[in-house]
Amino acid sequence: MLKCDFGNLQREVELLAQAKAQVLHWDVMDGHFVPNLSYGAMVIERVRDMTEMVFDAHLMVTDPQDYLDSYIKAGCDAITFHFESNAEAADLLKRIRDEGAAAGLALNPGTSVDEIEPLLPLCDLVLVMSVQPGFGGQAFMPSSLEKLKRLREMTGPETVLSVDGGIAPDTIGDTSEAGADLFVVGSAVFDTPNYVQAISDLHSIASQRGSRAARPSDAEPVSSSVER
Ligand code: ZN
Repeated sequence: MLKCDFGNLQREVELLAQAKAQVLHWDVMDGHFVPNLSYGAMVIERVRDMTEMVFDAHLMVTDPQDYLDSYIKAGCDAITFHFESNAEAADLLKRIRDEGAAAGLALNPGTSVDEIEPLLPLCDLVLVMSVQPGFGGQAFMPSSLEKLKRLREMTGPETVLSVDGGIAPDTIGDTSEAGADLFVVGSAVFDTPNYVQAISDLHSIASQRGSRAARPSDAEPVSSSVER
């Protein structure tokens, strides 16, 4: 939602619902963990009343453990924080699950998969950053593909693999083939005149290229994995 028109937030949510977007991904920035500042739980809570869509909060913040309760209260279904933050990751992942939300862990481009391996059993979602966190509109980093492949091998089909940054028609296919099953898209939807067309095109590329599309029997739809 970082790239949406905040002057017409309700309209944007309606357009995304019409386009059958499954998840609203909220990029929360604190001006400390990342240089920019975005929005917080108050905005998300207000939008919660407008839609039944799954809410995925991506906390790019220092001290995410101090803010967990407010994002749960705002109605977020999945809470993702950064491995690189100062949180005690195992404890916080457990706390998120205890609160009834899906527990997500995000990795910056410079963080290796090996570093988070011991935490994977505690994760419902792993978010691979394919750009540096904190800014919209950056180019996709191909090094994220190898990470997705490794993570797909290391996790079961019940773990959602999400990719965030530079996802567009020319990159989504590769990420889907590498094992991603949740695609965070900003500019490639919001900078187009027709969200229905943009999401439909992205969805069909991801479905054609995705390894999970070929194995529907063991694939859990993303929406049910993080359902309220
Ligand atoms: Zn994000």
